[in-house]
Amino acid sequence: MTIVKEITHYLEQLAPLSYQESYDNAGLIVGNTQTEVTGVLLTLDSTEAVVEEAIAKGCNLIVAHHPIVFKGLKKLNGRNYVERTIIKAIKNDIAIYAIHTNLDHVMGGVNSMIAERLQLQKVRVLAPKSDTLLKLVSFVPTEVTQAVLDALYEAGVGAIGNYDHCSFRVNGTGTFRPNEMANPFIGSAQKDEEVTENRIEVIFPAHLQGKVLNALKQAHPYEEVAYYISALQNLNQEVGAGAVGELPKAMTGDEFLTHLKDTMGLQMIRHTALVSDSIKKVAVCGGAGGFLLNDAIGANADVFVTADYKYHEFFDADGRILICDVGHYESEVYTKELLQRYLSKKFVNFATILSETNTNPVFYRS
Ligand SMILES: [Zn+2]
Repeated sequence: MTIVKEITHYLEQLAPLSYQESYDNAGLIVGNTQTEVTGVLLTLDSTEAVVEEAIAKGCNLIVAHHPIVFKGLKKLNGRNYVERTIIKAIKNDIAIYAIHTNLDHVMGGVNSMIAERLQLQKVRVLAPKSDTLLKLVSFVPTEVTQAVLDALYEAGVGAIGNYDHCSFRVNGTGTFRPNEMANPFIGSAQKDEEVTENRIEVIFPAHLQGKVLNALKQAHPYEEVAYYISALQNLNQEVGAGAVGELPKAMTGDEFLTHLKDTMGLQMIRHTALVSDSIKKVAVCGGAGGFLLNDAIGANADVFVTADYKYHEFFDADGRILICDVGHYESEVYTKELLQRYLSKKFVNFATILSETNTNPVFYRS
């Protein structure tokens, strides 16, 4: 049996809640963490129709990209679709979980999925975030340094880009004097002690702090473990908005638009003038990504694929880049397939089903 909490815990390892934007409301919106899961329905939006689909398909957990609740609800009387969806979910014991801007901000998230469909290579985060990394310094007797480092690596420290087990150490002398109450690993009460120790330094993502400190305290032989944790302003190349990569082969503007339409299954693309006849570098951002235009230009992208562009914002292309607005729903609809891939790999004792409800509120007529 699997409970809701095991699924949310797994999803939050992939996309920690601390990576969401301040306005966002990702996480468990409706439901109890201890409920046994009978099935998971994956969707872009949780609407009343999606809750009905979950009931019909025997799924008591909906995992959505967009949170159905963004702002505080002061009344719950079914006056709008948000309230009606929440009421229907609660009445039918359906839990609703949202994995939103936190999934936008990780490698292997929403934007990696768009990059995969467009067959981009050398994909990296377009606008890496700062202030998500911490540095741990600790002082470890020489003979147990490797064992302590191994425990820390296991907890997730020391990963930088394509490298792991990254650390630095310098050897020196640590001093201490235990009192009568102490139970020292080395030395005895009221006697000054000097020990050859390594000062070790490692970096890790801030959301792992609890796990890393537990690992340090478990593996370190001392009764009192000396350590410092400090915040780093470094950019975290694994975390941030948008993605940028390269097409396997340069295309003309026309060829690229056809490629985009085919690989994303689009009915239409709103785009700016074709400014280059060689499209190779492509920046992408699922949903409303206009705020990343300068990052896309700064990364020398030939084209920026995103959604929710307004008339005046198209002028900002200014002959420097091709902006393609593919539609918000269309840019993110494959996110549910990504979630299915993750969940079905990890959990086998319940079904993870792709919702068949088209929640796109926008219709096109040609
Ligand atoms: Zn969105």
